[in-house]
Amino acid sequence: MRYISTRGQAPILSFEDAMLSGLARDGGLYVPETIPQMTAADIRALQGQSYEETAFRVMRPFVGESLTDDVFADLIAKAYSGFGHVARAPLVQLAPNHFLLELFHGPTLAFKDFAMQLIGQLFQEALDRRGERVTIVGATSGDTGSAAIEAFRGLEAVNVVILFPDGRVSEVQRRQMTTPVENNVHALALDGDFDDCQARLKDMFNDFAFRDSVRLAGVNSINWARVLAQVVYYFSSAVSLGAPDRKVSFTVPTGNFGDVFAGYIAKRMGLPIDRLVVATNHNDILHRCLSTGRYDTNNVSPTISPSMDIQVSSNFERALFDAYGRDGPAVSRLMNELANGGFAVSQDALQALRGDFDSGRAGEDETRAMITHANTKMGELLCPHSAVGVHVATMQQDAETPMITLATAHPAKFPAAVKSATGIHPPLPQRMSDLYERSERVTKVPNDLATLQALIKEHQFK
Ligand SMILES: *Cc1c(COP(=O)(O)O)cnc(C)c1O
Repeated sequence: MRYISTRGQAPILSFEDAMLSGLARDGGLYVPETIPQMTAADIRALQGQSYEETAFRVMRPFVGESLTDDVFADLIAKAYSGFGHVARAPLVQLAPNHFLLELFHGPTLAFKDFAMQLIGQLFQEALDRRGERVTIVGATSGDTGSAAIEAFRGLEAVNVVILFPDGRVSEVQRRQMTTPVENNVHALALDGDFDDCQARLKDMFNDFAFRDSVRLAGVNSINWARVLAQVVYYFSSAVSLGAPDRKVSFTVPTGNFGDVFAGYIAKRMGLPIDRLVVATNHNDILHRCLSTGRYDTNNVSPTISPSMDIQVSSNFERALFDAYGRDGPAVSRLMNELANGGFAVSQDALQALRGDFDSGRAGEDETRAMITHANTKMGELLCPHSAVGVHVATMQQDAETPMITLATAHPAKFPAAVKSATGIHPPLPQRMSDLYERSERVTKVPNDLATLQALIKEHQFK
């Protein structure tokens, strides 16, 4: 299996090299050259299998020759052993034909653990085998950083530096990043918003001298291995509702477009998905783009669903690449226009995107109202991100096709919003109930590339 860049100018890489490098050297994102297919019989054979077995069968064709079957199965088993639910991604019913996919039973209580725990195992195995080490730098709106620190803490071959927007993450998110004691992890509070963090991260990757000198590796959702790990739960949940003999739809609370793009890959592999609904909060660039064809950046406004407070949605580039018939130069031109504020999607490409994606948005009042409603009428305490999804799904649902909404975080990760909408303070699961007592370690940094680079060099491999 070979991986190509969405901008068509970077070297073609194996799965492992694409995973270790993250962003392609032409500024693009890696995607598989072809999409492996699963037949109806292959999908039917997933019925009744464990999450781990499903994960193995869905991901195996993408991984290629660098891992044997036994080693890959072993890494999957280790990745999910720390989850607090044996089903890993259980499905609960909210209403007739509407289901919630609980993706928050991992160690940091958000769906990012599904990918990050596996990536931690894959990085360690690959770097051990090669005798190499890397510096992982990540930008986070809260959940990626905590999931990355949790997955990589204490690993010998990896130094982890996480940039988060100072004052714009929840206390639980911050503490999950600042309380690990291992000295290979560094949490940096940047004076700016998430888009600033993401922009500085991209600057570092585009500075090749720096990138090579610290052996920079990326685990943001631009990393293909993360998207891949998320494809699995689209299969496991659809199969438990009758796939391949019955179609299902999904609604996905969306920021960087990684999670919903994983659903699109599942569909391209042969999973019968009827609709993929992109659910945004007040920061609705994706909903506006799918509605109007213009992708125009605005300023980000902080919301109660901070992990979706994003304007430049990195993984959307992968969808554009396919919508433009895999024309790398065309994607490059759009991304250059984006640097000046926005672009228009061509009519053909817009039609292709609308063939795969629907969209909706939930404003702050609608999100709060849904948290209240779900608690009183559905018996579910929803985190604000999941509430955005459930609100949009409720607007979109048709009577025939089951709708699965992804619950992307545990309510206890965002206790203030949940408490104000329901009066209930959602407790942390037992296994992390001492989080508020642990001491914190964090470095405040300005929104300045040179300062960040100096700091990262200084921290290297300590
Ligand atoms: C990251 C995140 C999202 C958005 O996921 P994308 O892959 O960036 O679209 C939604 N909800 C929560 C809780 C998250 O952590």
